[in-house]
Amino acid sequence: MRITMIGTGYVGLVSGACFADFGHDVICVDKDAAKIDALHAGIMPIYEPGLKELVATNVKGGRLSFTTDLTEGVAGADAVFIAVGTPSRRGDGHADLTYVYAATREIAAALTKPAVVITKSTVPVGTGDEVERIIREVAPDAKAWVVSNPEFLREGAAIEDFKRPDRVVVGTEDPEATAIMEAVYRPLYLNRSALMFTGRRTAELIKYAANAFLATKITFINEIADLCEVVGADVKDVSRGIGLDNRIGSKFLHAGPGYGGSCFPKDTLALLKTAEDHEVPVRIVEAVVQVNDSRKRAMGRKVLRAMGEGDHRGKRVGVLGLTFKPDTDDMRDAPSLALIQALQDAGVSVRAYDPEGVEQAAKMLTGVEFVADAYAAAADADALVIVTEWNAFRALDLQRIAGAMQAPVLVDLRNIYHRRDVEAAGLHYHGIGRG
Ligand code: NAD
Repeated sequence: MRITMIGTGYVGLVSGACFADFGHDVICVDKDAAKIDALHAGIMPIYEPGLKELVATNVKGGRLSFTTDLTEGVAGADAVFIAVGTPSRRGDGHADLTYVYAATREIAAALTKPAVVITKSTVPVGTGDEVERIIREVAPDAKAWVVSNPEFLREGAAIEDFKRPDRVVVGTEDPEATAIMEAVYRPLYLNRSALMFTGRRTAELIKYAANAFLATKITFINEIADLCEVVGADVKDVSRGIGLDNRIGSKFLHAGPGYGGSCFPKDTLALLKTAEDHEVPVRIVEAVVQVNDSRKRAMGRKVLRAMGEGDHRGKRVGVLGLTFKPDTDDMRDAPSLALIQALQDAGVSVRAYDPEGVEQAAKMLTGVEFVADAYAAAADADALVIVTEWNAFRALDLQRIAGAMQAPVLVDLRNIYHRRDVEAAGLHYHGIGRG
């Protein structure tokens, strides 16, 4: 099977490399020449565990290649995946489909044989209809089936998620397109993964409903954490106590600084816009978006409070972790951004360390001093804040940290430490929801 991936970012590169690993012949296309040059040199444009090795093996095996030339990439393809970005549109929060539609026009002009054109990007309900219309307009004689196949992989565990997914959702009701999609995913089938076929619009909505539900779960436990702080309860035990109930499940019940990343913020917003356009209010998701937005900056105030009363101008805070979650270098909508801004607005200077995210973070943050490890971030600080739960922060030498700081205050926004261990090392402990 000959597969073309349009867009070689987090989703396109991981999916392309995994499809090649299944034995398909894959070509990944990207407009960004620097990205493609780097990939030709064996350098990954993103940090994702295991990706470098997977790409190298499949390039060497002759199953995976890269190009900036979309026409060359699409020629002869049985399946063309669109995996370009769908960021929030400036001004109104709708999904910006400019890249999807531009790619569609180019694909339509480049098709040389019957092919399925698949939206793997997260796109609002009805986008597949427009993709189909554009293909008919640009290439009236081309035979193409437009299918929705949203991606559910998580950054940091992307390869495992792609190869062993909970389910693969495919939106098409056409028998020929179904047969091609079955052939594309046949290697997964053997692993008995659930390949779920449904209508195209339904598949598009499943992706938004899934992300909105997960964002709701996180936001729910975050609000319960706030209540725990006031009433003297422990949110970790509340999470465990409710998560052990199979109807609820324990995942996405970790209280923290609010969700961020490249998907939840923009996808919840886009779902609100779709609902608004169809005059069907989705009030729960509205509340989730509002609560989460205000929470990120509130984390800045939490850190300031932990430093005590009064003016904090001239003080310094050490920040551990900048990326929106561990095992990625993705900084899009990371909670660290709003938190650091809030600290800087209060006249506090910031020293930060992140194992993989500094290069991306430096493009988004100003006035932050980046240092080489957690101990350098703690040096002379008036508070140290754990923002992202990288493994490297789970077993710090707390006595060394306490000894290096100006004032011994640890704010653990991911609840990775026990209060008693932190206090035994001579630090004041502030977790989330641990009243
Ligand atoms: P990304 O920004 O990392 O990558 C998109 C790539 O597409 C960029 O490299 C860009 O240069 C390229 N591109 C844009 N227009 C192009 C064109 N016409 N031709 C060739 N290349 C083009 O984005 P991403 O994080 O991989 O996300 C892609 C889509 O997948 C989004 O809709 C996103 O919501 C969805 N998604 C992302 C994740 C995730 O964890 N990142 C998970 C599931 C779904």
